[in-house]
Amino acid sequence: MMKTMNEFKFHMPVKVFFGADCLNNNASELLKYGKRALIVTGGHSAHRSGALDDVIRILNESGADHEIFSSVENNPGLDSVGRAGEMAASFGADMIVGIGGGSPLDAAKAAAVLATNPIDPIRLYENVFQNKPLPIVAIPTTAGTGSEVTQYSILTRKDVGTKMSFGNESTFPVLAFLDPNYTMSMPPDVTANTAVDAFSHAMEGYLSKRAGPMSDDLALASMRYFAMCREALLSGDPNYTDRENLLYSSLLAGTVIAQTGTTALHAMGYALTYYKGVAHGRANGLLMEEYLRFNESEAGDRIALALKTAGFDGIADLGNFMRSLFPDRIEILPEEAADFEKLALLQRSAKNTPRLPNLGDLAAIFLTGTHK
Ligand code: NAP
Ligand code: FE
Repeated sequence: MMKTMNEFKFHMPVKVFFGADCLNNNASELLKYGKRALIVTGGHSAHRSGALDDVIRILNESGADHEIFSSVENNPGLDSVGRAGEMAASFGADMIVGIGGGSPLDAAKAAAVLATNPIDPIRLYENVFQNKPLPIVAIPTTAGTGSEVTQYSILTRKDVGTKMSFGNESTFPVLAFLDPNYTMSMPPDVTANTAVDAFSHAMEGYLSKRAGPMSDDLALASMRYFAMCREALLSGDPNYTDRENLLYSSLLAGTVIAQTGTTALHAMGYALTYYKGVAHGRANGLLMEEYLRFNESEAGDRIALALKTAGFDGIADLGNFMRSLFPDRIEILPEEAADFEKLALLQRSAKNTPRLPNLGDLAAIFLTGTHK
């Protein structure tokens, strides 16, 4: 049998609207899914970005009812998604609208499952749900997680001492509205953290053992858009066009990881977030140089092409960029690194890494990556 391309599957069921004012211009799409919306947000940014006011106005004008769950914390835990799910059920919500960064969007997915399945939130991780989740509409206000086009919901697990993801084909949003204007209010640190999260998705998706031709093309395209914004990230002053490019880069990278999963880099980052309070994207950025060096023997050609596409002159150049963007280093003790390694190896995503880590390999990345 002739074969030049590996067989691949590509599943992206989200209807995406992208561009300035895309929500207002396509308001009827939002209203197709229900008449009682539970809106899930963090504390301030949904309002500050302008997205919450737009959603409320659209719902009010059409006579649809809504309630707001506005207490999603960064890196949400099982308690708050449990409360959001209960609120959706008692309100009789017929759809969930998540507005915010990855934290509210991921919480919205959990609430959509819990609204129709009265289970303890820990059972989300069984990943099989008796009843179909409510339809999820995702409106990102950061440009990084791509959660609006993934099935994943990443929640903090106090019982395990790290973050873990669940999600299946029923937890993809049905609709996503990506308006770069909603990301304009991000301060420089959130902009940098989230941009590097998106870049990390593109890089890990490209290197993942589950990568295929279509995810590769999208990953490289995502990196091209990231390359266009690198100067603006360093100066901390991105303009509208940069915001548009960052949001598009993040969208493309989200469609990639929905197919390929992430790899050991994300798995390691979760431990830094949980134990050291490091923001998600920055955690990946701090470890990326050493992670790429570790994988060079297995995936050197792909790493070289990816870095070139993103405008880097090799792994050391990438390391210098990350140190400029994130100058503050973090202290990790050798015994902590050994514990973090164990937690990272618990994650399914670690298995997608091109070079399978032996015991001690990831601990070494933690130590070298964060101390340079
Ligand atoms: P985030 O945790 O959602 O938000 C971080 C901070 O940024 C919050 O204080 C938030 O404020 C603020 N913020 C958000 N949008 C803003 C805006 N437009 N203007 C001003 N401030 C704004 O950050 P994130 O990096 O987007 O999401 C990280 C989470 O997503 C992590 O839990 C990570 O594990 C997860 N994630 C999910 C996927 C996936 O596929 N599902 C992929 C990667 C990462 P408020 O609290 O007021 O909203
Ligand atoms: Fe991520």
